[in-house]
Amino acid sequence: MIPRLKPSIGKNELIAALSPSSRNHVERFELEFSRLMKQKYAVAFPYGRTGLLILLKAMGIKDKEIICPAYTCVVVPHAVIYSGNRPVFVDCNSKDFNMNLELAGKAITKNTGAIIATSLFGYPVNLDQLDNLRRRYPHIPIIQDCAHSFAAEWHGSPVQKEGIAALFGLNISKIITSIYGGMVTTDDEQLFLKLKQLRNNMLEPANWGKKFKRLTYLLFLYPAFSRLIYITVNHLERMGLLNAFVKYYDDNKIDMPIDYLEQMTDVEARVGYRNTKRYQQIIENRRAAARYYFSHLIDKKSVRLPPKVQGATYSHFVVLVNDSHDRSRWLQEGLRRGIQLGQLIEYSIPEMSAYGGHASKKFPIAAKYSQTSLNLPVWGGENLAEKVCEKIRGI
Ligand SMILES: *Cc1c(COP(=O)(O)O)cnc(C)c1O
Repeated sequence: MIPRLKPSIGKNELIAALSPSSRNHVERFELEFSRLMKQKYAVAFPYGRTGLLILLKAMGIKDKEIICPAYTCVVVPHAVIYSGNRPVFVDCNSKDFNMNLELAGKAITKNTGAIIATSLFGYPVNLDQLDNLRRRYPHIPIIQDCAHSFAAEWHGSPVQKEGIAALFGLNISKIITSIYGGMVTTDDEQLFLKLKQLRNNMLEPANWGKKFKRLTYLLFLYPAFSRLIYITVNHLERMGLLNAFVKYYDDNKIDMPIDYLEQMTDVEARVGYRNTKRYQQIIENRRAAARYYFSHLIDKKSVRLPPKVQGATYSHFVVLVNDSHDRSRWLQEGLRRGIQLGQLIEYSIPEMSAYGGHASKKFPIAAKYSQTSLNLPVWGGENLAEKVCEKIRGI
């Protein structure tokens, strides 16, 4: 069974996880991460969403409207609400899955507190359009959500540097991982100091129970992604028995994980530090898989290829199929042939009942992506892409 994602966790990460504890391991990881992202500062959090919540507080934003994509990870508006603000959703553009920045401009009011610009699936947000917005509304800060893109580049400019701060997620589905975890990076010293101060005041230190849980989870993960075991894991997942691990949202609820206010553990920091060193190789692998798909799926009439963008980091390789029925058929056919295809992100946030349950007509492009996007695995480079293409040939 070829899994839809596979964290690049190897022996080095395992050894790192099991190494003796030290309190400065989180700082060491922050330093390494800020270097990788070419930013002056990085602050580690237990989840990306906790980072966003504390970032909004550190920026002094309260009772404001935060403009964010209708098509993004639902934990983003959750964090906005937990910060005492209100998300205002904007539909996608029809080119690259990202937010339509013209519509974002129209959504700005005197109550707007910030814009969250997301580079979804590794596609860099259009920085030319974003600069336009910034020139028109210089008082509105821009937060870069790089959880999918890491250091994606728009015409050579890394997206994470084009805002007041950037947000990263580090769970096992992300480009690099610290088991769980998140980072906020910035070049602004005042903001950095405030972020660190707030984090240390608001978060509990990581306790032994949490370290033990993270370690156990890692020891379970490591073998779980071997081919044979993954067949069982996939069955359990489809039966819903792994929901505690893989299901990260509930349509009707706006909530946070119970430990969202407990610091990142040093176990995670050591794994993240190790994993950060693999960054170049991981990105190269993903780009190679994407290149292979671009050149070998070209004749496939039943799928629409995503845009080819220089500087994209391909956290996901997303093709579009006809409709949600067609997608279910793809997923099933994939499983029959030993490949787990993905359907991320399979919702448009304003349509979720927790966010008002708006009709799909209101955010038509987000609705379309939510129903028709299908992901092909990209973690294993060209070799994997070749296998996947072989397996899906007849579908
Ligand atoms: C994963 C992700 C985050 C952060 O998620 P956490 O699970 O809280 O670490 C933020 N934005 C996007 C787009 C994401 O995919």
